[in-house]
Amino acid sequence: MTSKDLFPAHVEGVVHRHRVLIIGGGAGGICVAARLRRAGVHDVALVEPSPTHYYQPLWTLVGAGVVEREISARPMKKVLPRGVRWFRDRVVAIDPDANTVSTESSGDLAYDFLVAAPGLQLDWKGVEGLEAALETPWVASNYHYDLAPRTWQMLECFRGGTALFTCPHMPIKCAGAPQKIAYLAADRLRRRGILDSSKVVFATATPSIFGVDEFARPLEAVIERYAMDVRYGHVLKRVDPVVREATFEAESGGETKTVTIPYDILHAVPPQSAPDFVKRGPIAGPQGWIDVDKHTLQHTRWSNVFALGDATNTPNAKTAAAVRKQAPVLVRNLLSVMAGREPAAFYNGYGACPLTTSYRQIVLAEFDYSGQPTPTFPFIDTTRERVDFGLLKRRVLPALYWQGMLKGRA
Ligand code: FAD
Repeated sequence: MTSKDLFPAHVEGVVHRHRVLIIGGGAGGICVAARLRRAGVHDVALVEPSPTHYYQPLWTLVGAGVVEREISARPMKKVLPRGVRWFRDRVVAIDPDANTVSTESSGDLAYDFLVAAPGLQLDWKGVEGLEAALETPWVASNYHYDLAPRTWQMLECFRGGTALFTCPHMPIKCAGAPQKIAYLAADRLRRRGILDSSKVVFATATPSIFGVDEFARPLEAVIERYAMDVRYGHVLKRVDPVVREATFEAESGGETKTVTIPYDILHAVPPQSAPDFVKRGPIAGPQGWIDVDKHTLQHTRWSNVFALGDATNTPNAKTAAAVRKQAPVLVRNLLSVMAGREPAAFYNGYGACPLTTSYRQIVLAEFDYSGQPTPTFPFIDTTRERVDFGLLKRRVLPALYWQGMLKGRA
């Protein structure tokens, strides 16, 4: 079968047609668009509803009062590579047999090749009462641009009592972010001299503090240092903002029971899943995530469909760091397929999470599909807390993101 047969010139009802169509103008979408343009691919279009692009890793530092939220945001038109057509719209369905996507207001768009990078969905409604609780000054979340500054306000108004931090079932984006803010908060309370009169509780749905032992060990020492109360297997189900209580389903010894924890302040992380239009559509795998080969990032059923980032079912840590390694692999494979060859580039599952354990220290967790540490700087012991990585998160990584990744250079 030739590519002409695969991609008929005219599809009924289609207004626009593009050689490569990208869904999502986040880390993955912009990175791929930039690399395609650098490789000389013309006729690239991107569908993205938001007028603003966010560098979300900074939201942890926004919640800790280290940076202003505004430095994490840039106008979408400023980060969109030159020559890429932007449909400011939302994809509502994909028909990979017809090579089309349907949008909310631009009609159906046809493609020869599709790259899906719509990120994941924050399911705020998955916890009863959470949305109402987020209207109160005692509840916040670093998982949203508008709510991250509230974490800092809440921490600064706290005068002692119970500071509760939650973490939902995996997978979520940046699995370390729910605990990072707990450590930063504990450090802040220590500096203010109220850690001893406070109880910092981290209630997590996970069975351990971190999936990779080499990084779990230093984190356990951090927990001890702050005398934190960590509850494993605790899934947040309900928040009552009137009496300030959080209710969990807790698993222990094969039994599930209901546990209620009163809080003075609460940092909540919502459950997360693939976007609804992905879950409902044909490109999803059994858990709703986009079903791609975990090494080539090509869809398992449609050879002209690729995906990267948080929306896929690849079992790596869902991070911008993973996107940085995925984008060049995806683009190399996409160019091969466009030229009629087999995809040969290989993604090894690299993901990274700079775990801020205090205002000065970081444990830089880098690992791949094998669960083995894969340090970028092999001569540095990244499995212990390091002061020199503080600058990395605040300055080096944002610069790498804006100037390197988004421009298709790193
Ligand atoms: P996103 O960057 O989220 O982009 C998805 C884009 O798709 C969005 O612009 C969205 O508007 C668009 N979209 C959604 N639905 C549609 C639709 N229907 N049609 C068209 N477009 C759509 N990563 C790290 O590497 N290190 C960290 O320290 C780190 N810390 C984090 C801390 C927090 C608090 C958070 C929230 C995230 C953190 N991350 C971190 C994770 C990182 O931000 C994500 O993994 C990364 O942004 C994923 O890129 P993506 O392109 O898949 O999704």
